[in-house]
Amino acid sequence: MPVNGLPPYDTTNIFARILKGEIPCRKVLETEHALAFHDIAPQAPTHILIIPKGSYVSASDFSTQASAEEVAGLWRAVAEVAKPLEATGYRIICNMGMDSGQEVPHFHVHVLGGRPLGVMVA
Ligand code: C5P
Repeated sequence: MPVNGLPPYDTTNIFARILKGEIPCRKVLETEHALAFHDIAPQAPTHILIIPKGSYVSASDFSTQASAEEVAGLWRAVAEVAKPLEATGYRIICNMGMDSGQEVPHFHVHVLGGRPLGVMVA
């Protein structure tokens, strides 16, 4: 059943293809449960995406269907990737569904930093 306008998981989405090695990425970190890579169209000096290796469309899917190890694994990867930004700060964004403009229907976390990011108004 669609959630927030999201269809069921599409195994041919671009991040699924990156996970299968069909499409290249600039890898930052890979663990048992997560892959982190540079965003292809960075919106800040540091813009890294962290994705779970399992097939989840939304945060809701991920939170309810993934194992505790997968959930911890993803967020530990986020923390690891963000570590170099801790002194100056950073922003985490997860887009979910139509109104957020989510482009890729595989759950992912954006980590942005390296410049003042401004106040988030929308
Ligand atoms: O959260 P949302 O789905 O909108 O973000 C998807 C992100 O994936 C975009 O920031 C886009 O630049 C990035 N992307 C990427 N590599 C691709 C395709 C998309 O880093 N091959």
